Amino acid sequence: MSILKRKTGNEPETISLKAKSSSGDKIYSVTFIFDGNKMIVKCNCPAGRYGNFCKHKWAFIKGQDFMLYDEDDDDQHDQLQYVAERAQKSDYLDSIINLSKIQKIIDDAELEAKQLRKKVAIDMKKGVNYW
Ligand SMILES: [Zn+2]
Repeated sequence: MSILKRKTGNEPETISLKAKSSSGDKIYSVTFIFDGNKMIVKCNCPAGRYGNFCKHKWAFIKGQDFMLYDEDDDDQHDQLQYVAERAQKSDYLDSIINLSKIQKIIDDAELEAKQLRKKVAIDMKKGVNYW
């Protein structure tokens, strides 16, 4: 018996989801590895392949299907739901909640800034009172 052989029943469970690139012309592979009590997430896109945060890993861990390469693939949907449910019962949950909250604040602030810039542009065209 080889000492390199893994113990049976101890193999990590791996689930791969296909994600589309922003331009839609490339397919990236997002892999979820359940090893013991660890949930590891990898993506082979330019950002994700170096272990950095990427939108594919982020979307899928939250269960969002808009980045699935084939949105009509029922099997991919089932697997996405499965990994998202497991993420909800993991230490990723706090990050999902907190980062989503912060993103909402950023989005609201960006919208407010955009409206304010528009107002300033109109004010500058029409002129404003000065004293
Ligand atoms: Zn990615």
